Amino acid sequence: MPLEDEKPREPPRPIYFDTAATTRVAPEVREAMFQVLADPMLFANPSSAEHGLGRQAAVVIDQARDAIATELACETDEVIFTSGATESINLALRGIALSHAEHGRHIVTSMIEHKATLACCAALERDGFSVTYLAPSTSGVVSPESIADALQPDTLLVSIMHTNNETGAMQPIEAIAALAAERGVLLHIDAAQAAGKFPISLTRTPIDLLSLSAHKFHGPKGIGCLAVRDRRRLRLQPLTYGGGQEFGLRPGTLPTHQILGLALALTLAAARRDEDLKHVTALRAQFVDAVTNKLGAIIHGDPDCASPYILNFAVPGIRSDALINQTAAEIAIASGSACSSGAFEPSPVLRAMGIEGDSLYGAVRISFDRSHTEDDIGTAVETITAAIHRMRMLQA
Ligand code: PLP
Repeated sequence: MPLEDEKPREPPRPIYFDTAATTRVAPEVREAMFQVLADPMLFANPSSAEHGLGRQAAVVIDQARDAIATELACETDEVIFTSGATESINLALRGIALSHAEHGRHIVTSMIEHKATLACCAALERDGFSVTYLAPSTSGVVSPESIADALQPDTLLVSIMHTNNETGAMQPIEAIAALAAERGVLLHIDAAQAAGKFPISLTRTPIDLLSLSAHKFHGPKGIGCLAVRDRRRLRLQPLTYGGGQEFGLRPGTLPTHQILGLALALTLAAARRDEDLKHVTALRAQFVDAVTNKLGAIIHGDPDCASPYILNFAVPGIRSDALINQTAAEIAIASGSACSSGAFEPSPVLRAMGIEGDSLYGAVRISFDRSHTEDDIGTAVETITAAIHRMRMLQA
């Protein structure tokens, strides 16, 4: 099948503004994955070390693992492939809890974590662990001081997200890591919204475990990794048992094309990180300027300490579900609260930031990527403005 250009020419609508949910696979990544799938020498099981075909597939895996380790500044054998950030987070939290329960049964996290963390913590609570859920500031930031105050003698682990998926709020990871290291507590960082977009060095920053998903940075869905610093010392317990792949931590046949896609997407994202960051920062500023001036939109969180890839806002008097529906033909935006059930629920993340009423029920997330242009932002603003005029006319 021919591979298309990164941005579809036809049909151009709706313009996709939900890159925090997932991104398009970069054409270079699709091409390279397709090559692996089509190559008659690369289909073998990478664990079939007895024959050359298996060993050739293993070379692709080894190179991918090396590339990821280079980007994250960790050791090659500290990269554990998983199906994505959800599985990585579960392996990190549950794996540490199960293997270190005799040293402590307390975990510190925040109220604004992704459901993967919150649901895993809830399951651990049912298994007898205790969890402190810290509230963020009104900007959506969890302070290192609040973490320090929450630590107990039996605290095993702190788990904090690098960048919030609803508001873009970025956490003070360096200070949190320094604190955890000083207090001798393990630290897991959910970097699903940060990997590829912001520099992460596991050598410079003392992070013990770090989770990511390829599809958030133009890689394929269904693949991610957990970086585990000093794996032998950490003694993580696996969640599944099988053939011993991934150092026994995540058994199962390795998907060669997916792993190559993850590594290439991360390498490409890192190579264009500064350029992309500058681009989306300018686009976000254009959007914020227009919606605040034209529509009196309220921006949730503080753009100065947030990822420019994600913006959460509300227009007074306008409900988010109505705005999303009214603009759906032209732009794909989201309410921001990852809503697997399909039922509309106000965001617990925004609530934890003290946002209530109109702002809460009107919260909309728009998220950007390298493919967007100033014209796309112009279309988004015009579409939102026209929809709001229509809705206000109907309300009048
Ligand atoms: N953590 C954060 C911050 C996310 O945004 C997401 C995805 O939405 C995840 C974890 C889970 O990632 P995945 O669905 O790829 O497992």
